[in-house]
Amino acid sequence: KENSSKENNVAKIKVVVRKRPLNKKELARKEDDIVTVYDNALTVLEPKLKVDLTAYVEKHEFCFDAVLDECVTNDEVYRVTVEPIIPTIFQRTKATCFAYGQTGSGKTFTMQPLPLRAAEDLVRLLRQPVYHNQRFKLWLSFFEIYGGKLFDLLSERKKLCMREDGRQQVCIVGLQEFEVSDVQIVKEYIERGNAARSTGSTGANEESSRSHAILQLAVKKHSEVKDSRRNNDVNESKSGKVVGKISFIDLAGSERGADTTDNDRQTSSTITMALDGCCEGSFALLMNHMTIDDGYVLLVAKVFLPDVIEGAEINKSLLALKECIRALDNDQIHIPFRGSKLTEVLRDSFVGNSRTVMISCISPNAGSCEHTLNTLRYADRVK
Ligand code: ADP
Ligand code: MG
Repeated sequence: KENSSKENNVAKIKVVVRKRPLNKKELARKEDDIVTVYDNALTVLEPKLKVDLTAYVEKHEFCFDAVLDECVTNDEVYRVTVEPIIPTIFQRTKATCFAYGQTGSGKTFTMQPLPLRAAEDLVRLLRQPVYHNQRFKLWLSFFEIYGGKLFDLLSERKKLCMREDGRQQVCIVGLQEFEVSDVQIVKEYIERGNAARSTGSTGANEESSRSHAILQLAVKKHSEVKDSRRNNDVNESKSGKVVGKISFIDLAGSERGADTTDNDRQTSSTITMALDGCCEGSFALLMNHMTIDDGYVLLVAKVFLPDVIEGAEINKSLLALKECIRALDNDQIHIPFRGSKLTEVLRDSFVGNSRTVMISCISPNAGSCEHTLNTLRYADRVK
């Protein structure tokens, strides 16, 4: 087992952190950049207040498989994250690449170019005689999980359901798959799928931040004889046999409930309460700082009222994902994939010969410190 996971010297799980540059708004507000990258490590300088309200800074250090600073291009991100996995897809690997982080930290910016770059490399390899002669072909599908439901992004957002076959293989019933032999066609499908992502009255980015979008590229082996014989059986004839695949996931924002950077969607209030475990709830409560007032301990907290339930649903998938990745890393036999829709859908990517690349996206500004530390701690536990 050890051997198979070290095949091609590609680690089974790779955790990469990417820091984005300060944006115009943050620069205009003269916010501090509190994240410094050194090789594959980084530090976060957390602004804090003492009980007497004097300010100080707490330094947090983290180390990952790779840390990419704000100068790193998307091309370099591809080279560090996905490129090493590509050859393993021809050796029965099911790979998963996902970006994680608060809304606005650069997940979509990071994830969007990756499938196309991967498709370029896969198409090039598939044209080599060794694969071409074996009738290997590339197939693409693109769907979304929104509010616990599945929608086909390449088929007018048709609602899909999931089924397990006798061999515990996951099958998404009705999901359209397209054979792609040309990068230009891949590009068109990706654009079409992105345009079909959920948008609401509140604007495209906000809505897409609440859905998980999953783009899969599968290499299949087609057997000529069987394919022509089974012409009536649409699934079998079209699908061939999956050799390996890679799933790209643009995850929903990791923050609980509303986004703190989005002031008008957030309702803040100050709550005074006893310290005793009150902040344990899974609802959206963020502790800001403590003050001593006439001998009482006050807890100054922000309470996020909107989107609490949806936030909890998103959190559940992220937690479930983390549990699966950890189980995978420990070579556990039981993978807790039933924890969420997302992990159920990815079930076949968590068994056997799998590879996972997680890209943790972080914002550099002081105002995002709390989210940044949460993201880094999540990544640290996955590692
Ligand atoms: P998310 O998907 O995590 O909500 P986005 O990918 O939409 O965040 O990024 C938010 C904004 O920041 C976008 O305008 C995006 O273009 C910009 N951005 C993100 N990462 C980078 C980066 N590394 N370099 C330059 N701009 C970036
Ligand atoms: Mg996004």
